[in-house]
Amino acid sequence: MKYHSTNDPSHQVDLKQAVLRSLPPDNGLYMPNTLPVLGAGFWESYRRLSFREVGFAVANAFFGEDIPEKTLREIVDGTLEFDAPVVTLTPGDHILELFHGPTLAFKDFGARFMARLMAYLTKDEDRMLTVLVATSGDTGGAVASAFHHVPGTRVIILYPKGKVSGLQEKQLTALGGNITALEIEGTFDDCQALVKKAFLEREITERMNLTSANSINLSRLVPQSFYYIHAARQLTEGMKPVFVVPSGNFGNLTAGLLAMKLGLPVGHFLAATNRNDVVPAYLDTGTYTPRPSVATISNAMDVGAPSNFVRMAALFVNSWDSMKSTISGMSFSDEMTRSAIREVKALHGYEVCPHTAVGWLAAKNWQATHPGSSTITLATAHPAKFPDVMDAELGAGTVTIPERLAILADKEKVATNLPKDWKPFRDWLASHID
Ligand SMILES: *Cc1c(COP(=O)(O)O)cnc(C)c1O
Repeated sequence: MKYHSTNDPSHQVDLKQAVLRSLPPDNGLYMPNTLPVLGAGFWESYRRLSFREVGFAVANAFFGEDIPEKTLREIVDGTLEFDAPVVTLTPGDHILELFHGPTLAFKDFGARFMARLMAYLTKDEDRMLTVLVATSGDTGGAVASAFHHVPGTRVIILYPKGKVSGLQEKQLTALGGNITALEIEGTFDDCQALVKKAFLEREITERMNLTSANSINLSRLVPQSFYYIHAARQLTEGMKPVFVVPSGNFGNLTAGLLAMKLGLPVGHFLAATNRNDVVPAYLDTGTYTPRPSVATISNAMDVGAPSNFVRMAALFVNSWDSMKSTISGMSFSDEMTRSAIREVKALHGYEVCPHTAVGWLAAKNWQATHPGSSTITLATAHPAKFPDVMDAELGAGTVTIPERLAILADKEKVATNLPKDWKPFRDWLASHID
């Protein structure tokens, strides 16, 4: 399979380049030249398959030409070492729990698949692959966990000092081994700018064999479509689900669209956002106006210029009418999000994180005008990752902290402190070329 840039269909690369380069030089995004479809045979039997079998069928449809079957099965099985169960709050109101992975957020699916795929694609090279990633919180932890102990790879994470939560920081800094954390005296945007600049320096990228792990990497997207199919098959036969996706950069929703293109029967998609409502506004008006993000309590969705929007547009051949017949947008304030966290707990005894709460609000709105529909709201993170908000709304100690998060508290933070300027970062990189 060949991949092309959304900005220039004639710029074509193979899988290895699409995954290791991450971004085409023209600043578009890579898309597969043909969108795979799973045959009738698969859709007749998919309800009886295991999560791993569903994952393999999807991965094989995208990557089967380029990766031997045995390897692809190993990559999928290694990715899916935990489940994604559907929890039913009331008939028709379902939650898809995507937080059972090592870092308690859906990003584990994409990061684990990408790590295994990159290790395979570089297995014959004798040079170490260096993954450079800037994080505002969740991505860095998922990427660090996914690459930890993967032979032939190392990860360098840049995070803004004092701007990630205590437990998030431990997820970045306490692993050791092939994971190095750089604590930058600046904001997330400063970290991102340093990473971008490093990729522009040919000498550094070549000598360090640099690759990026950000969410626009195609290999993070495909495994996210596994769980849409896995979720649908957990519902009563015959119901076309309405997927409700709490969104920021819109990678997760794009993965849902890929699942639909593969042939999954889908009723509709809801793009649920916080006040950063660039996509809901586009669906309303037909005008796309990116703008600087504003801070909210669902901070993993604080994105003002969603990077996957161009992929979504490409999937609808740039037709606004076509996109809005499949996706509806809704946005909610922090105040509504907080009251939703309390309401879900009071009505169902269930705890949702601030991101999932935004999704649940959208699901409730949809059901009010579409009675009898079946919504599946993606629970993108475990509530224990957001103790400040959860304690404020439900009372301290209400949310039980899972063991794998709790043990991090006692681990030692190891990070190198750097200013936000280019020169010291460049020098640090240069001194770590081996
Ligand atoms: C990353 C993230 C999101 C947003 O997902 P996108 O794919 O960027 O739209 C939502 N919730 C949580 C908890 C996240 O970590």
